[in-house]
Amino acid sequence: MAEAKPAAVPSNGPDLKQVFRNAQRAFDLIQKHRTPPDPKTYAVWYAYVEAADTRVIERVDHAIAANGTLTPYDISAIFQELLTEEPAAVSARHTIGMAIEKEIDEVMKIIQQGVQNSDDFGASLDKANEELPGAASGDQLATLVSTLMEDNKRMAETTRELNQGLMESQKQIATLNQELEEVQTQCMRDPLTAIANRRAFDERLEREVCAAAETGEKLCLALADIDHFKNVNDTYGHQVGDAVLQQFAAVVTQNIKGQDMVARYGGEEFAIILPETDLFSAYNLLVKIKYNFKSAETPIEGTLKTLKDVTASFGLVRFEPGMTPRDMIEQADNFLYEAKHAGRDRVKAKGF
Ligand code: GH3
Ligand code: MG
Ligand code: MG
Repeated sequence: MAEAKPAAVPSNGPDLKQVFRNAQRAFDLIQKHRTPPDPKTYAVWYAYVEAADTRVIERVDHAIAANGTLTPYDISAIFQELLTEEPAAVSARHTIGMAIEKEIDEVMKIIQQGVQNSDDFGASLDKANEELPGAASGDQLATLVSTLMEDNKRMAETTRELNQGLMESQKQIATLNQELEEVQTQCMRDPLTAIANRRAFDERLEREVCAAAETGEKLCLALADIDHFKNVNDTYGHQVGDAVLQQFAAVVTQNIKGQDMVARYGGEEFAIILPETDLFSAYNLLVKIKYNFKSAETPIEGTLKTLKDVTASFGLVRFEPGMTPRDMIEQADNFLYEAKHAGRDRVKAKGF
């Protein structure tokens, strides 16, 4: 039993309208299930409506099926197991979460105020209803009507103020959600090279392998490793080594397109996902990248010189039915090992 229709995951940066709709749905669910409006609860419901991680949907649906609602214990467990991230991200999310909690408090206050006003107005109508049959003179009637009109005017005025307050809170929540999205994006990026990190890569490869298995579409994966990189560090220093890593990321980024993805797999290793690409085209692309990287010039800090002729080795694999993401990585790694042992500065793949 799904509470809400899963929403599409924004692929290129935050889609604000979608973020706002998700936030609205998360608030609706917080109210519907009377879960405490704290940042953890919000994070769980937001992840639920965002539907980027099916495990969250399964866990929430399961808890609701078992208990009829989501208990604070369920929220803590789901949050802990599926939604915790690196400390920096957690603390940024926490700060934003607190701000969202404050906004929820504001909205709650506004709603309570609205309910109070309408209660007061209802009481004033009841009183008029009681007094109306007993109103003997035209003067008494006129007084009654003018009292009602005043109350009505006051009610309209406060409703207008409340609406304005609600709109401001909504704007505030949309901004906070945008900040949340940005934090999320940062969690997926390698700070040195600004390309995708291992975590983003793992998620993406998983998705691409599922898609290839379902549609029969082609898919290639390459692992690349910079050759004798330790020598670069030892000879020119760690900062020049860092610049070489940035150079490699830049060269690959310039040569790939569309749905292709380059990620920093670790240290001086990179992964390149090439959806809808056959082995031959992937091989040619990697040879081009290999050549462009070798001829790229990286400035040597503190001198006017540049570093050239640093090379990289590549292992390339094509998806075949039945393969898991792990199988693809293992096979690409085996070809990378072959490339290193055959003398480095080359691309190895089945048949190449
Ligand atoms: P091979 O050709 O066999 O790949 O040799 P290699 O020297 O490239 O490989 P090795 O694994 O011996 O050394 C990799 C080095 O990469 C060791 C490590 O200090 C360095 N390294 C890893 N991450 C970074 C980083 O972020 N910046 C810098 N400058 N160096 C890094
Ligand atoms: Mg290595
Ligand atoms: Mg290396």
